[in-house]
Amino acid sequence: MHFKESEGERATQKRQLRPSVKIIAAVLVLLLLTAAGFRLHAWMEQRDEARVMVLVNPWNDVDKSGFVPKLKTVDGVQVDQSCAGELSRLLADCRESGCSITITAAYRGREEQLMLFNNEVNRQMLAGRSADTAYTIAEQRVGTPGTSEHELGLAIDVQGAAAQTWMKENGWRYGFILRYPQGAEAITGRSADAAHYRYVGLSAAEQIYTLEITFEEYTGMFFTQEAEIIFQ
Ligand SMILES: [Zn+2]
Repeated sequence: MHFKESEGERATQKRQLRPSVKIIAAVLVLLLLTAAGFRLHAWMEQRDEARVMVLVNPWNDVDKSGFVPKLKTVDGVQVDQSCAGELSRLLADCRESGCSITITAAYRGREEQLMLFNNEVNRQMLAGRSADTAYTIAEQRVGTPGTSEHELGLAIDVQGAAAQTWMKENGWRYGFILRYPQGAEAITGRSADAAHYRYVGLSAAEQIYTLEITFEEYTGMFFTQEAEIIFQ
């Protein structure tokens, strides 16, 4: 009798335990899933950040970079999807502050780049320059086909002095940097250009703006030991 009773008690205890075990298991699974979700999110963010760090200049061409733009339309122009959200925010904030801003160029394909390049060569030759000089100027101002950031969909040209001033002060807040500053021609391989802005992501843009360096210098530092010390 006594034995039976204790067995009955144990069974009751088991039944009472079962729901709490289930709850604990559910909570554990939920925690694991949340942790996995966070890790996945962080991994995707890191992957996107790394993707937009692509360096394209006269010495590093688009084809070699392997970057394939995924285009999205913002304000009537096409850009890579990575910067579409920030660009929309930038345009809205700029306009809200009373600034008139127009993007005159964003993504362009290889053929359009070739056409622009040839036009610039012709323009320089018509102005009396030799073919060699005309080619060099076009190389520095427009970029030979395959070396323009516009082919990445990560660059925009901003029209107007007021908009350019606003961009110079605020572009980095949206991940955009002045890509060809005055005095950095030897580093960038391109003529200074107040209109051309490049998306590099929020943290890189802030560092480049604060340190007053070029994207070439930033990517150079980024992959060295020195950089790890600076940015840690
Ligand atoms: Zn440009």
